[in-house]
Amino acid sequence: MPSNASDRTDKNDAPPLPEPLRVPVADSHTHLDMQSGTVAEGLAKAASVGVTTVVQVGCDLAGSRWAAETAAEYDAVHATVALHPNEAPRIVHGDPDGWSRQGARQPGGDAALDDALAEIDRLAALPQVKGVGETGLDYFRTGPEGKEAQERSFRAHIEIAKRHGKALVIHDRDAHADVLRVLKEEGAPERTVFHCYSGDAEMAGICAEAGYYMSFAGNVTFKNAQNLRDALALAPLELVLVETDAPFLTPVPYRGRPNAPYLVPVTVRAMAAVRGIDEDALATALAANTARAFGY
Ligand SMILES: [Zn+2]
Ligand SMILES: [Zn+2]
Repeated sequence: MPSNASDRTDKNDAPPLPEPLRVPVADSHTHLDMQSGTVAEGLAKAASVGVTTVVQVGCDLAGSRWAAETAAEYDAVHATVALHPNEAPRIVHGDPDGWSRQGARQPGGDAALDDALAEIDRLAALPQVKGVGETGLDYFRTGPEGKEAQERSFRAHIEIAKRHGKALVIHDRDAHADVLRVLKEEGAPERTVFHCYSGDAEMAGICAEAGYYMSFAGNVTFKNAQNLRDALALAPLELVLVETDAPFLTPVPYRGRPNAPYLVPVTVRAMAAVRGIDEDALATALAANTARAFGY
């Protein structure tokens, strides 16, 4: 290896610490279990730049149990629990590329999905679990053969969230119309969050009317994401949240490098510019909105 290797920025290098926020905010959606370093390190780094709270999101049974355990251990962490929209079809049909990358999974059929949902229901009752999600529909990664299981799982998660009085965290990828339809048919919980909001301005109007929170991730900074900035410009301030979805969706200028909650200030500043408001005013709203959305 050349001696100057350390001078170069590697795409796997963690981006530098941003300037701290003066008003602390929450990362409304993160996956600490997919990030490098310990939970304590990640939380300390985030807190050092004003990201003092994180919502840890479960995507499968093991991840949901871990989220609940971690939220019980750390005051700065709140949990949500769910079977991800791409996980539900895997439980029913089996898939060698399972979410947890634990190797080939035997198809379990509808009964296996029911068993897994019963465990999510049990976890959702825990006091440190503030939400049910991420659930919803993903037509990007799940093909037509998985649609039925995905929608059945989504409906079940809505019912669980409502029964326990928890927030619902929506994952909507290339499925806007069907997500909105299912929410309407089932009746959305009082607090519903579109994580990594991916709709346009028109959909933001629909969400605003329904009182759904819209959580913006690092992709709002991407050059090709004018539709997201248009939606953000139009969304009522009291319904806007910020998230990392880390380790994914690292904001510009660090796109492609590993994301973590400490990078929230980069996205907050980009969002403040889109809305033409002061960074502190936006941070104050984001903090209050996230606490209200998740009821902590
Ligand atoms: Zn998601
Ligand atoms: Zn996520």
